[in-house]
Amino acid sequence: MLKLRSSFPIFAQHPELVYLDSAATTQKPEVVFEALEAHYLHHNANIHRGLYPLAMQATERYEIARAPVARFIDAANPAEIIFTRGATESLNLLAATLSQTWTKSQNIVLWEGEHHANLIPWQQTGLDLRFARTTKNGQIDLAHVVSLVDANTVLISLSHCSNVLGRLTPVATLKKMLQEQGSAPLLCLDAAQSLPHVQVSVQGLGIDFLVGSGHKLYGPSGIGFLWGRRELLEALPPYQTGGEMISQVSLEGATWNALPWKFEAGTPNIEGAVAFGAALEFLMEIGVENIATHTAALWKLARAELAKIDGLNLLGEPTPELGILSFTVEGVHPHDLAELLGHQNICIRAGHHCAAPLHKTLNISASSRISIGIYTTEEDILTCTTAIHQIIQDIKNA
Ligand code: PMP
Repeated sequence: MLKLRSSFPIFAQHPELVYLDSAATTQKPEVVFEALEAHYLHHNANIHRGLYPLAMQATERYEIARAPVARFIDAANPAEIIFTRGATESLNLLAATLSQTWTKSQNIVLWEGEHHANLIPWQQTGLDLRFARTTKNGQIDLAHVVSLVDANTVLISLSHCSNVLGRLTPVATLKKMLQEQGSAPLLCLDAAQSLPHVQVSVQGLGIDFLVGSGHKLYGPSGIGFLWGRRELLEALPPYQTGGEMISQVSLEGATWNALPWKFEAGTPNIEGAVAFGAALEFLMEIGVENIATHTAALWKLARAELAKIDGLNLLGEPTPELGILSFTVEGVHPHDLAELLGHQNICIRAGHHCAAPLHKTLNISASSRISIGIYTTEEDILTCTTAIHQIIQDIKNA
């Protein structure tokens, strides 16, 4: 993957950068810059309404960008891809629209370790929320998930990979367990952290909804998507209302546009969608399996190096392919560690990572997190782990 690094202009501008925060956001390849520039230089117009060639080109390029997203997650139809601002907005869209079809006597099953984006929107529905526990190895306790489901459960919404514990949720096993129990609530996956690392087939997994984030997939910020099974999306009311999402409007009322436009009110992030499509084409050319192999090798190196550091405790047992290592160090605050690494241009994350309840369950206030991207090198890992080692020594000796 070393030669890939040259596809990321930031590293030529800042050769000193050791960027190990790709789970927060990824750096962007040249193809994304090019797509953004080409949009503004050659194709900029508002979409869906213009009758002149420039507007038609912009519309076509925006609409075509759904195809790589559909291919990336193996969706049956690009019309099932709703562009949003990101995984957060996708989950808000789902919660706000689904809840209009539910009653307060129904319930939703989540995991106690969810990112706030897959927690707070469901809190806002007012339905009873039930939380599955975490197993010792940092996985969602599937048996507990299934035991929480009853006849009033309308949805299970889980992270496919926790942004803290970095372990893949075995969705096929969960589906099987639910089938054996004769339960079939809707199943939603927050795939913000899994999509950059492992092959996902929404049809193969037999799920109902999935959300993803462009900026974690080497695309721009402010673009992401919701995928849903067509008949489910068709049955939902719109999320936001206004221009473009309507079929007919009178002063008294309106009827809704077809999918996917029913859920895309107003002028969307046109250039973001186009550049996101370019990022996914780039990833598919590399091959998600090759990415997983690269990530797993570097994860194992990082794991081995961190294991040499006294008092360092890795949280859970992450899946190497997902490239996440969260840890605490006895006597060292995660913020101090991240700040001191920052002085050496080493970028890691510290805090509760928008998963405050999980940290409470783990009985810690914060953790440090290293996360790996396709441009990460062995040198990055060794520079970072050596610096961590040194900083801890210095703090302990002070
Ligand atoms: N879910 C998970 C597991 C995440 O890691 C994140 C981003 N940290 C989100 C949801 C939210 O994604 P975004 O901020 O891109 O909307």
